[in-house]
Amino acid sequence: MKQEIFSLHTHTIGFDGSNSVQEMVDAAQKIGYSAIGITNHFIVYPGIENTGMYKVAKCPPKEGRVPYHAMYSLSFEDALDKFKRNYDEIEKVKAQTSFPVYKGMEADFFQYAGWSKNFEKALDILKPDYVIGATHFSVYKGQIMNMHDVQLLSEEQKNEVIHNYWKNAQTAISSGYFDFMAHLDLYKIRGLGIEESFRPDEQETVACLAEHNVAAEINTGLLPKENGRKNGYNTLFLLQLLQLFAQFKIPTFLSDDAHKIKDLSAGYDVALETADKAGIKDFCRPVSKNGKFYLEKYLIQEKTR
Ligand SMILES: [Zn+2]
Ligand SMILES: [Zn+2]
Repeated sequence: MKQEIFSLHTHTIGFDGSNSVQEMVDAAQKIGYSAIGITNHFIVYPGIENTGMYKVAKCPPKEGRVPYHAMYSLSFEDALDKFKRNYDEIEKVKAQTSFPVYKGMEADFFQYAGWSKNFEKALDILKPDYVIGATHFSVYKGQIMNMHDVQLLSEEQKNEVIHNYWKNAQTAISSGYFDFMAHLDLYKIRGLGIEESFRPDEQETVACLAEHNVAAEINTGLLPKENGRKNGYNTLFLLQLLQLFAQFKIPTFLSDDAHKIKDLSAGYDVALETADKAGIKDFCRPVSKNGKFYLEKYLIQEKTR
């Protein structure tokens, strides 16, 4: 029996992806996916246009990189405009195919005044099939920071920020907004929070998933790419996280976090092997019942060795 593969976490043009919805859907079908979900960034942080990370995104220093600042929204209206256009694009593609295509979003959870109220309004208007929770940033002393900014802090400040990173993830999980959480251990790709002293934070966060019945993806986008961009992430970190998923019986599934068609299913072999090693059994798949999206449990077939 063949392993069912799909991705519920992908990005497209108009944010920080390189391909159109149609191109992603065609490529997904070609590699034998059973479904695809398009989940662009919902990142609303007033004043984000004045940050260094926004300026870098607008003028990427690396040769050949296209600007990707459209992933940041300056206001809820800005985010709504972009998502309306994106969801129209998805609807057009859906109308031409029987292949399951879902409308999702990868939303950054923030705790500033007004975020929740406006986020709920946006969900009411956009009606996504599902919402992925993410915490890509830290807010420290009133400043929004990406991982690069965090790396530049003193050891003591870094420890505080990473500890808060996990606390923020727990608040996000408890919020009830999210169907599943993206790449919980994202900061490790920059070597942040890899020390043993953060393991209790990690464990508390996974326990929080179990308590609130929130699923979590196995994100293969963090794994170092063959012939590609190197990063500090490795399969040992993935194994550690997946062992916690197994221990707390967290519903899970593979996501490629593809930003271009060639990222689709990249790293799935390694991730499945790691999941097997960790003893993960609680795999899910997307199903649509009466037009509503669900993550349904299924047994992953033993791989033939
Ligand atoms: Zn992400
Ligand atoms: Zn993503």
